[in-house]
Amino acid sequence: MFPRVIMKGTMIKKSQQKRRTSPCNYKERFFVLDTQDLKYSERRPGKKPTLKGCIVLSRIKCVEIVCSDVPIPCSYKYPFQVFHDSHYLYIFAPDNDCRQRWVRALKEETKYNNLVVKYHPNFWMDGRWKCCHQTEKLATGCQEYDPMGCASKKPLPEIPDPQTELHDPGQRVVVALQDYTPLGDKDLPLQKDQEYILTDASHSDWWIILDNRGNTGFVPSTYVAEKSGANFDRFEWYNKDITRGQAEELLMREGKEGGFMVRDSRHAGVYTVSVFTKAPGSNGEKNPRVKHYQIRETETGEAAFYLAEKYLFNTIPELIHYHQHNAAGLITRLRHPVSQDRGCSQDPAKLCKDQWEVDPEELSLGQEVGSGQFGLVLEGRWRESKVAVKMVREGAMSEEEFIEEARIMTRLSHCKLVQLYGVCTQHSPMYLVFEFMENGCLSDYLRARRGRLSQDVMLGMCLDVSEGMAYLESSNFIHRDLAARNCLVSKNNEVKVSDFGMTRFVLDDQYTSSLGSKFPVKWSAPEVIKYCKFSSKSDVWSFGVLMWEVYNEGRLPYEHRSNAEVVESLNAGLRLLKPRLAPQPIYLLMEWCWKEKPDDRPSFALLLHGLPVRPVNQDNSLC
Ligand code: ADP
Repeated sequence: MFPRVIMKGTMIKKSQQKRRTSPCNYKERFFVLDTQDLKYSERRPGKKPTLKGCIVLSRIKCVEIVCSDVPIPCSYKYPFQVFHDSHYLYIFAPDNDCRQRWVRALKEETKYNNLVVKYHPNFWMDGRWKCCHQTEKLATGCQEYDPMGCASKKPLPEIPDPQTELHDPGQRVVVALQDYTPLGDKDLPLQKDQEYILTDASHSDWWIILDNRGNTGFVPSTYVAEKSGANFDRFEWYNKDITRGQAEELLMREGKEGGFMVRDSRHAGVYTVSVFTKAPGSNGEKNPRVKHYQIRETETGEAAFYLAEKYLFNTIPELIHYHQHNAAGLITRLRHPVSQDRGCSQDPAKLCKDQWEVDPEELSLGQEVGSGQFGLVLEGRWRESKVAVKMVREGAMSEEEFIEEARIMTRLSHCKLVQLYGVCTQHSPMYLVFEFMENGCLSDYLRARRGRLSQDVMLGMCLDVSEGMAYLESSNFIHRDLAARNCLVSKNNEVKVSDFGMTRFVLDDQYTSSLGSKFPVKWSAPEVIKYCKFSSKSDVWSFGVLMWEVYNEGRLPYEHRSNAEVVESLNAGLRLLKPRLAPQPIYLLMEWCWKEKPDDRPSFALLLHGLPVRPVNQDNSLC
């Protein structure tokens, strides 16, 4: 008996096998559902259709729509999933009605199969499920599967309103500061910004919390913060019983630029940030003083905190964390937490200094290979390795702050990052010791090879940088000055990201102020130019410009235009034009990086998936 055709039509299918996905991995296919199989074929005008795949219906274990807010890089925006054998097939329908018809028909045909009990409502992406953050692709789903129901016909149970369900007076409500993927059976996953009820905080590191579905489990206490009735005792920046006068005295005594604390204000439930600065006052004279900023809450009733400018945060620890990295309207960023008991917080870098302190006896210096913002760069040897030594020029770097950060920076380790081996503080000025990169900086490398760079090589460069940046992003580390000039090329022609986070230690105002002549305006996202609001998404913008540099063989962006003209054209919505050598899908990715709103830009993890697959056997050599 011949199978009976139930439905047919054109939809887009996402490639399953390829490691990375890109717009070209979303293929238009003609689907046919009959009583035996779901088949899809390629149809080209004037050619015979070619069958590309066939799924036997009896092998299907789940068919359901995908609920996701991730940008969909193809023209059909209504995804659904077909889980069969051990594969997930994502299909994109042109509209919701069409999607519902397919899902209903497929469910009907598969309802007596050996189906899953639970499924994943969101995509598998970047090595994890977007819904439950599990990192195993075949992990059990996190939502009950209804083989009869169809998402649009049968509304999902209402999500409990956190205001009514969670805000029972007396209950301690916490907000997740970041996502958490359970490490053990007894842990609960956390979703950033989501609220939970704190049920047990007796252990200082692991708290037990309850989510809005009634599940309880352990989470690391540092991943959550109490929303109100705050208990900030565990934060070194919090000083509970301290008056304004005492705070001023303590901060002045410490005398460290950016020394700060959070204290209770005179009004109950209100907090104040006090911060010390030596920045010149309005008369231009140096004027060591303490400034006080009240932490404000929006009037909408939803807890949304802000300080100087209206950057809203769900919790006070989040707000402080943000201003530890961005001045954003404050006289200085909040650099050093100061507390009554401990004075200026014990510097962890100093506690394990040995790990990154380079012994000058072990270091030998060779010839000069370049010079930069911080001074000369020499070739050298350290413990059998060829190294690059940056000799920091007097007055060029905020050394004290850099040393504090060096511990973190030496720990950042990835094959696509230029490794910081250590710091030699016994020399004044100090030496920074890096992995040596034989082929110098990327912008010079590109210029020297104009006309000889193949498409594969240019793509490989972008992939190298995006891999290094995806690692920084996953380490919550912001580069702040990503550009071809800040990437270096190895002996094997691999590109690695360099100078990450270093602008924070530059003491030259022309470089650090967005109005300064050396500020990298042409690589900066609008929110950086306007409010110095740095984030991984502002790095993504710069990455788009770096891609543009690569495909223009090292030409400078907006070459004959001033910074002011560039800002004007960005404000008018204009963007850099497509480089002649850039294929259209690559330019689409650049444009995606240059979306006005940071949230509309992709993450590096997503970008990495959007870039085409690296050609097999690519050895990065020129061809
Ligand atoms: P700065 O951070 O002081 O601005 P740069 O990182 O721009 O200095 O370095 C200046 C130049 O020194 C680079 O353009 C490059 O030619 C050379 N250089 C820097 N770091 C290395 C390295 N790790 N290996 C080889 N050369 C390097």
